[in-house]
Amino acid sequence: MWSFRQWRRTRILARLAIEPALWQRVLDSLPILDGLCLDETERLRDRSLLFLHAKRLTALPGVELELADRLRLAAQAQLPLLNLGDLDWYQGFHEIVIYPDDFHSPQKHRDSAGVVHEWDGEHSGEAWLQGPVILAWPGVKDSGGWDGYNLVIHELAHKLDMLNGDANGLPPLHRDMRIGSWATVMQGAYDSLNAILDADPDAHTAIDPYAAESPGEFFAVLSEAFIERPEIVRAGSQLSIITYGTMVYVCEAAAKSLGLDAEIIDVRSLVPLDTDTICSSVRRTGRCLIAHEATRFSGFGAELSATIQEECFWDLEAPIQRVAGWDTPYPHAFEWEYFPGPQRVAIGLKAVMEAA
Ligand SMILES: [Zn+2]
Repeated sequence: MWSFRQWRRTRILARLAIEPALWQRVLDSLPILDGLCLDETERLRDRSLLFLHAKRLTALPGVELELADRLRLAAQAQLPLLNLGDLDWYQGFHEIVIYPDDFHSPQKHRDSAGVVHEWDGEHSGEAWLQGPVILAWPGVKDSGGWDGYNLVIHELAHKLDMLNGDANGLPPLHRDMRIGSWATVMQGAYDSLNAILDADPDAHTAIDPYAAESPGEFFAVLSEAFIERPEIVRAGSQLSIITYGTMVYVCEAAAKSLGLDAEIIDVRSLVPLDTDTICSSVRRTGRCLIAHEATRFSGFGAELSATIQEECFWDLEAPIQRVAGWDTPYPHAFEWEYFPGPQRVAIGLKAVMEAA
């Protein structure tokens, strides 16, 4: 069926077409796009071009924006929406203003006793209910790696949150999602982050502690982490489960069946290995279980275990446990006996939790 919207889109894209080499440069400069397939990168390119057509990017003196910079920004803005259909999610604002550096802006907060606090805060970005998005150039340049910080995604998450009113951590939900369930999960996680920081303001937290500022900031920080820290499948405090592949789901089920607040890390890549994420988790929880389908003897878990022991020895409260396949050739007839299923993982989890 002929669609005016599609026709218009095709015409705009034909007019805005860019050199494939330029788009490749943009892709190469943003590690967070590494996992996209060709179809996805092509859709992202088209959406980025349409985004730049619809929004004005204003660079204040001191910032030089080349087309590659604009495309980098647009690609990060569009990445969270890539599979959300063609709706105009970024409606209600027309301009992104890029400041040359972090900036001061007046802040106001009413505390639970009703006292209004006012101060001048330093910011890297801002998104107002009605009005442009403001981004500081150093933060834009630093965004796009696998470190969990992304100024572009953060400020635009506020804009998504504001589609149904104030930035309060409740954006419009998918049709099959219930507001009550969202509120319960988000409030519980927000409260537990605040409890950790109230007990120790310097505590190592799984996400940027700035998330504890307000439910709106919590949603924006989680949006950054959701895109940039996919290896943390589940944040938790009692122990760290380091695993990959199908075992991620097996471990999730096993920890849930025991009622454990486990932090589950999907290693995703063995080389390079993200030791920072693994070790910062183990340092926080003090307990660690490694699970994989391969044999225990000379399996990759041995390498993980050695690395964790070298880096986190003084933080460990229990010996590292490994749950793995049996040390035999792969048995085609007894696959499910060989496979380290939820019961074997649960035994390992109990062992690591019960050790002194
Ligand atoms: Zn924010």
